[in-house]
Amino acid sequence: MPVFALCDANNFYASCERVFNPALENRPVAVLSNNDGCIIARSNEVKALGIPMGAPWHQYKALCAQHQVTVFSSNYALYGDMSARVMRCLATFTPNIEIYSIDEAFLLLNGFESSHLVRYAEEMRQIVRQWTGIPISVGIGPTKTLAKIANLIAKKRTTSGVFDLCDRTGQDHVLPTITVGEIWGIGRRWAAKLKGLGIHTAADLREAKPAVIRQELNVVGEHIVHELRGIACLELEAIEPKKTLMVSRSFRHLVIAEPILLEAISAYAARASEKLRQQRSHCGGLSVFLQTNQFRPSPQYKNSCVWSFDCVTNDTREIMHAARRCLSALFKPGFEYHKCGVMLLDIAPDTFIQNNLFQPKDHQRCDALMATIDRINQRMGSGTLRFAAQGMRGDWQMKQQWRSPRYTTRLKELPKVKCQ
Ligand SMILES: [Mg+2]
Repeated sequence: MPVFALCDANNFYASCERVFNPALENRPVAVLSNNDGCIIARSNEVKALGIPMGAPWHQYKALCAQHQVTVFSSNYALYGDMSARVMRCLATFTPNIEIYSIDEAFLLLNGFESSHLVRYAEEMRQIVRQWTGIPISVGIGPTKTLAKIANLIAKKRTTSGVFDLCDRTGQDHVLPTITVGEIWGIGRRWAAKLKGLGIHTAADLREAKPAVIRQELNVVGEHIVHELRGIACLELEAIEPKKTLMVSRSFRHLVIAEPILLEAISAYAARASEKLRQQRSHCGGLSVFLQTNQFRPSPQYKNSCVWSFDCVTNDTREIMHAARRCLSALFKPGFEYHKCGVMLLDIAPDTFIQNNLFQPKDHQRCDALMATIDRINQRMGSGTLRFAAQGMRGDWQMKQQWRSPRYTTRLKELPKVKCQ
């Protein structure tokens, strides 16, 4: 029988901020979305204030001030790097790991003595905390769905942060206390439908006839029934390189001028190319979009355009050139632009590259140049070496009023220790 552990970082973004600012421990911390629009991460203290996930910042500003909530703009450089560290720690505990999201991973713990599982999970928690500073919770179960539920219990109802839902007695005890809406994979629509059928809890769903659930929901719903019964339908999934890759942002201020839009799209193209090379892939084309803010009463315009390359590429120069050509084709004067973005298409791994018969490209030379750029930016901080087209002004850059330093990825922003 397989054994899954779901490891999930507690209030991940808020925890990352606390690692480098321990004074925030046990104090309310909130993190805002891009352009400081909504609250997207909350420490337990903020949750206790009744501030919901996704709350618009301007509506909750006063409440946050009143309760002295420390507010941060999102710092994805920090969160991404901390996530990689947490995952590297977890990977030392099993050869079989699936990174499910920025702060969650499924670990397959087959072959470990069942009596030792909890102790092993406690060790994971302790090591991750010690090596990275991030608190995690671990849920253990015979299926992914049960491991998810176990994690929920570990987080909300234990102080140890570990919960084992492997044996039937434990499941019988816990499942009646879990509403269907809390089950992994059951969204609001399905939850409402199940309630209509008189199925309110995870225990009810476990007892439901799989065929009926298949009919009412679909085969995925049926799998959930089996998973709740302890029959694994879902395996660990290998991380596959993404098939499309998007970089887009809304601007800090509305933008009217084409040169500024061109700088923005060049920067997004550079970032997308870098991500593409990180996953050892190339793309066959790209699409660029440009739009005004549909929520404003000003004249509206929205358009997109696709480019396909003669020969697949992951060369920033070619991708940037194409993105700029697309943007110029889309641009119409007289509008106030709010957002643009680039999406790379037809992504495939670097293992096989079809060259162009008529204009063969020296791939090795391009690869060497790109690898050099990436290496310098990795060592010296991203954006150290960049294309002039990306501009220096950054007028279009996101509003990040309260972003913490990028402690782990920029030498200049390393935390400083004062000796008295
Ligand atoms: Mg989490």
